[in-house]
Amino acid sequence: MKNPASPVAVELLSKELAHELEEQRGLFILRLHSAFLQLGESLQLFRELWQDDGAIAYQVAAEQGWNPPPTKWLRFRRSVFEGGFWQDVAETLAQRGGTSQTAQSAQPGEWCWWKEPLSGMPSVTGIKLLPGRHRGAVQHSFIHGAFGKHETYSAALQEQRAAILALPTLLASGDRAAIAHFRERVLSALWPDLAAGLRDTQHQHIIEELLNEQDSMLTWLAYMELAFDAIPPSVYAYIAGTGGSTLMLELRLLLPLLLLDTGSSAADAASELQQRLECCLGDEEEFQPPDQAIADLTTLLLQFRRAANEVHEIGALLADGRADELDLPRPARSTLAARMAAIRADKSCRECGSTEHSTPLLTVGTVNYE
Ligand SMILES: [Zn+2]
Repeated sequence: MKNPASPVAVELLSKELAHELEEQRGLFILRLHSAFLQLGESLQLFRELWQDDGAIAYQVAAEQGWNPPPTKWLRFRRSVFEGGFWQDVAETLAQRGGTSQTAQSAQPGEWCWWKEPLSGMPSVTGIKLLPGRHRGAVQHSFIHGAFGKHETYSAALQEQRAAILALPTLLASGDRAAIAHFRERVLSALWPDLAAGLRDTQHQHIIEELLNEQDSMLTWLAYMELAFDAIPPSVYAYIAGTGGSTLMLELRLLLPLLLLDTGSSAADAASELQQRLECCLGDEEEFQPPDQAIADLTTLLLQFRRAANEVHEIGALLADGRADELDLPRPARSTLAARMAAIRADKSCRECGSTEHSTPLLTVGTVNYE
């Protein structure tokens, strides 16, 4: 319906669209919240070990995880824990949003790995390294990231880590010039296919609507940041051995791009990463205890991909509303840090709003209200 003449019709259609937008927002929030809680539960073992001693937890995870059969790297290196790197990342995450967030929480959904004391961590633990023992560790090597790239790619990711860690803030503030700069200067060098995919993404107007609206992208990004806070670095070491830091940076680079790409480039890459993880996980009956956490991390990746599509649908609805000159309420603007704090503070069920119970943990595919 283009330019409805009657004010009553405009009001009615505006209300209808506002309702539809609320439902769509609720859908992706429920999806992400549920997957986030699930991951928090299964990370318990990793969390406890990290709290005891992060450097040792990292080293042990690298040994016992998915390092591929030619695990010679373990015989040649005394340590795989890059203390300086993780200290740097911890400081960056602590400063995110400019607020001081120092108190650690005992609640699984609020615990942050970087709030554990890292200053005393030696870069070399001195513990004897052993080759990996994990059965399913053969299909893929994640040592240079999940995509079988090379050492130069890992080095370039490390070099660009400040820009990669800052990417969510660029999206949250809708800084189009900085986003374009990141795409052309940083992403083009690291991952040219993805940069090209983003440049040619079909529905740029949807991205524009979402950057204007802010709220939907902000919530999605807040869940992403909460997940990265909840995942101790030893999880990446379990998957990637010496490539733990590369894998973390790769995930942090790829995930926000899902929001910026309405085409398939970023989604295909995220899907491939998910499949590689699933492939190494093997049969559920043979899971080692840490594998359940990796399985739930895989589910979370899938749900971020689906939720990004739902956010794009919100953008399409907003674009329709604009074309029809409807009068939509604008959510108040906020910051990433404030949104993360609000999600942590809100103990209600994301499905029904009750404060008597928390959000149910849903299995993949069950969040479908079509
Ligand atoms: Zn409920």
